[in-house]
Amino acid sequence: MLTKPEIEALINELLAANRSPGYGITVRNVASDPPTIDVDLRFLSGRTYCCAEPGCHLPSDLSRLPLLVGFTIRWHCIVEDGAQLKCLEDLGLPLDGDGYDYEFATVGST
Ligand SMILES: [Zn+2]
Repeated sequence: MLTKPEIEALINELLAANRSPGYGITVRNVASDPPTIDVDLRFLSGRTYCCAEPGCHLPSDLSRLPLLVGFTIRWHCIVEDGAQLKCLEDLGLPLDGDGYDYEFATVGST
């Protein structure tokens, strides 16, 4: 089984391919029964993102993470107070809204 730092490195590498100014990524927990990985993903204060939508930033399946196939990744997404979201500008709102958080899961195929 992969260790937390190994999984963190894989996720960092995967998300580095996004056109984003970077995230704060922490693997919180890895369980084998059922195979589950809990990850904290932070949209960082002071950086500018297109949006904070999971469909834009997170994988819909694990095809690009073959070592993690069979796992479910539970993303605990935290949009920090002061993170800048361009999609808010399109709505005529200030870019840096109040922080919020949401949950999203990538279910690995078996
Ligand atoms: Zn986006």
